[in-house]
Amino acid sequence: MIAASLNAIREALPSGVSLVAVSKFHPVERLMEAYHAGQRIFGENRPQELFAKVPLMPPDVQWHFIGHLQTNKLKLVLPYVTMVQSIDSLHLLDAVNRWCLDNGRVVDILLELHLGAEQTKHGLTEPEILGILAAAPMEGVRIRGLMGMATNTDDAAVVEADFERIQALFERIRTMELPGFDQLSIGMSNDWPLAVKHGATMVRIGTDIFGPREY
Ligand SMILES: *Cc1c(COP(=O)(O)O)cnc(C)c1O
Repeated sequence: MIAASLNAIREALPSGVSLVAVSKFHPVERLMEAYHAGQRIFGENRPQELFAKVPLMPPDVQWHFIGHLQTNKLKLVLPYVTMVQSIDSLHLLDAVNRWCLDNGRVVDILLELHLGAEQTKHGLTEPEILGILAAAPMEGVRIRGLMGMATNTDDAAVVEADFERIQALFERIRTMELPGFDQLSIGMSNDWPLAVKHGATMVRIGTDIFGPREY
């Protein structure tokens, strides 16, 4: 089941779009099924759950943190992840950078653009993102691109408007030719084909791979 779902998604994704298997709320046995089907990038959104799963999975798994991260949980996350996709405040960005400097690590990050109006309070505004990129580079983090979650609705026009907005910002920043800034992480189970149409380089898919979340 998991292997078949993964293969169907991989066949539909254009080359150059990477797939993050969002494994939150699923037990490690199911993650291992995906691993044996060739999946290596896994996304988790809760620090404790990530921390518990890391030692149970093979060492070549690349973990992406995709949830709201509180600064008192950094040590559960930052030693183990290759990317934090959900940098959603200036305060968090500063704290992650400082933790990395103190601990001799450099972590790839994405800046999360606030999309989808009232549903989530997390995320950076466009001026905040442009301000971060205009400031002196931070030594503890590599800013690799943008992440966004579209409005949770069946109305494709609303979802597309969200994706258009983040794609336009991404393209605008790309003209600045910042080194390593090349990732646009948009698209989940219910909207990833639209995200691909709007330039996604990374999609984050849970339910379409693993089925409904278990706990
Ligand atoms: C849970 C989650 C996903 C995956 O959601 P599905 O609808 O199960 O594909 C993607 N991105 C983020 C940030 C999430 O929290």
